[in-house]
Amino acid sequence: MTFAAKSVLGASLEDGLGTGVAFQLPEKPFLADTALHVQKVVVSVTGPNIGNAMLTPPFIPQLNEYYGRTAYFRGSAARSDPGGLGIILNVTDEQLTLHTLPFPELISRIFEIHGIKAKPSPAGLLTSRLVAQMGGLQGCRVFKIAGVRSLIKKYAPDRSFERTEALTMIGDADPATHQQRFDAYKRLYIEQRDKPELKPEDAFLYLLKKGVFRAGLKLACPTCQLDFWVTLDDAKSTTECVYCGFAFNVVPQLRDRNWAYRRSGLFGRDDHQRGGIPVAVMLHFSS
Ligand SMILES: [Zn+2]
Repeated sequence: MTFAAKSVLGASLEDGLGTGVAFQLPEKPFLADTALHVQKVVVSVTGPNIGNAMLTPPFIPQLNEYYGRTAYFRGSAARSDPGGLGIILNVTDEQLTLHTLPFPELISRIFEIHGIKAKPSPAGLLTSRLVAQMGGLQGCRVFKIAGVRSLIKKYAPDRSFERTEALTMIGDADPATHQQRFDAYKRLYIEQRDKPELKPEDAFLYLLKKGVFRAGLKLACPTCQLDFWVTLDDAKSTTECVYCGFAFNVVPQLRDRNWAYRRSGLFGRDDHQRGGIPVAVMLHFSS
């Protein structure tokens, strides 16, 4: 016998066991008198994913024991449902607290049923860090822009570029017609904006905000004549040359200097982020 579904508001909680959701059970469509406390009922919960974890895992009854132990502390209490997670409760129970199931562990368990040992690869871990740096898969929309991908590819982490170069690459002008191929993305949503059309500047500013690039200055040493780059944080009126150690006053150079940008953080790795950018774009399309 089944009853109609009801919506309830859950309160999320964080404890030593991870993220969970606590909720009051709705009014029961059956007699729940204390005299009947030995009677059981299955509450089937359907809920959203929370961050990197699931509240209602896929329908795999072989994982009931794992589901019960992880979500409800009792291996025998869970029954995987198509589209929900069933928990066996007493008819008199008034509330339910469920812990979420972390994706990586859940995926390993699914493979384990079929005798396959699975663990995240270094490339996979890097991609998940990359997605996190961008603020989630939706934050990776900016990588749909071909010019953004070319810009990241073109400048190795030890090479800097100026804003105009960045905007030209993101704008992706056709060398023959000078038509900006960026036009294909002018409706792309990357973050809240006041104007209807996206411009290459918006994409560049977004990448700066997300720490894909950082700002600095390219300076020329008066002694050894070599150019070197310092971050905005390290730039001082008297700066030491990284090659010869000579300390010189940079102020006279500032007149004709623009900010020079470099890739930073995870994007400062010289391994193409192990293919993380195309994977993030692909995951975004399929999400
Ligand atoms: Zn020098």
